[in-house]
Amino acid sequence: MPSAIPPEGRPRRGTSCLAARLPVLRPILTRWYSTGHRDLPWRNTSDPYTIWLSEIMLQQTQVVTVLRYFAPFMERFPAVEALALAREEDVLKAWEGLGYYRRARNLIPAAKAVVALGSWPKDVKHLMELPGVGRSTAGAIASFAFGARAPILDGNVRRVWWRLGALRRGGSSGDAHLWALSEAILGERDPGLMNQALMELGATLCTPHAPQCGVCPLSDHCAAFYSGDPEKFPPPKAPRARPLVNVSVAIILKRGRFLVTRRPSEGFLGGLWELPGGKWEEGEGALQALRREIMEELGVEVRVEAALGPVSHAYTHFAVRLHPFLCTLPAGQEPATPLPMRWIRLGEADQLAFPRGTHKVFDRVFGQDLRAAEEAGSWEDGPGRP
Ligand code: SF4
Repeated sequence: MPSAIPPEGRPRRGTSCLAARLPVLRPILTRWYSTGHRDLPWRNTSDPYTIWLSEIMLQQTQVVTVLRYFAPFMERFPAVEALALAREEDVLKAWEGLGYYRRARNLIPAAKAVVALGSWPKDVKHLMELPGVGRSTAGAIASFAFGARAPILDGNVRRVWWRLGALRRGGSSGDAHLWALSEAILGERDPGLMNQALMELGATLCTPHAPQCGVCPLSDHCAAFYSGDPEKFPPPKAPRARPLVNVSVAIILKRGRFLVTRRPSEGFLGGLWELPGGKWEEGEGALQALRREIMEELGVEVRVEAALGPVSHAYTHFAVRLHPFLCTLPAGQEPATPLPMRWIRLGEADQLAFPRGTHKVFDRVFGQDLRAAEEAGSWEDGPGRP
């Protein structure tokens, strides 16, 4: 077993020219992967539908999260034909919480395209014509399902290359070089296994923090290991400030139901349902923003019954603070919007897909007491209590 500490004065084996060492790394990786790896539900299959779906879910999402979604999704949509016939709303509901919803919206058109073709494309070029399928995803499908000699380059594999060669980001160490390494390491036999091995190494040993060099089969050939500080490859990106966005939302009550609208299909959180409302403008407070947004969105003036206290949620690039208000409509006011809208009961909220932040509002507002009150009909004609 390699030591976790690089040996003093020991000659570095082949770390200077990574490309030349690939024929040496290939059998080591093959042996390592073949003697044990994680048993994931999308492995040990050559079914392109299973592989495609898992690869799409795994884009920018950790395995542990995908594991919670994969089996229920497969149960709901067990084959590409079933997915091709699905309603976008149902697919979004099954995807709810997994994030990056554009991936979910691309599933149906991609499934329809496969059904129209009559079978799955088998090469990278044609796989990349499916909505949402990039080069790495296409490489995974082509190599795992069809045994094609197609490379992959996801975040885990990138990190392995960066460290094996002690490479910097960009320039001559940019993606073109990394793709060339991913391609060159594939032998004629079982390219899918080599791709799996690279991904597995990056996911389990060559992790972003605290890589387990002491048990890594490639440590003898790893320049980052010999540097004594593998974590500095690649150098961390400067942390990005996460701006805070304030949003006022209305829970407009009417005869035991409340109003939800559906976001346009394109764009952030596209196709999900939400409470009406919107972002504060410069200089506005919560109430002022609420009244303006509701007037602009629904063309009505709401009567505010109670402010419910803010709820926070962080997305990748920004944080949002939602300020919910319980509202009613003055007599004669009827909301109108070009967006789809529905008056739903509490129980129906489970049937539609909402952003995580909206669920937090529901959890805050519609706690157990209010649920019981709603079920008993005690706020049939009014806001009840906040
Ligand atoms: S030796 Fe360490 S840094 Fe190098 S590939 Fe293995 S786990 Fe990654």
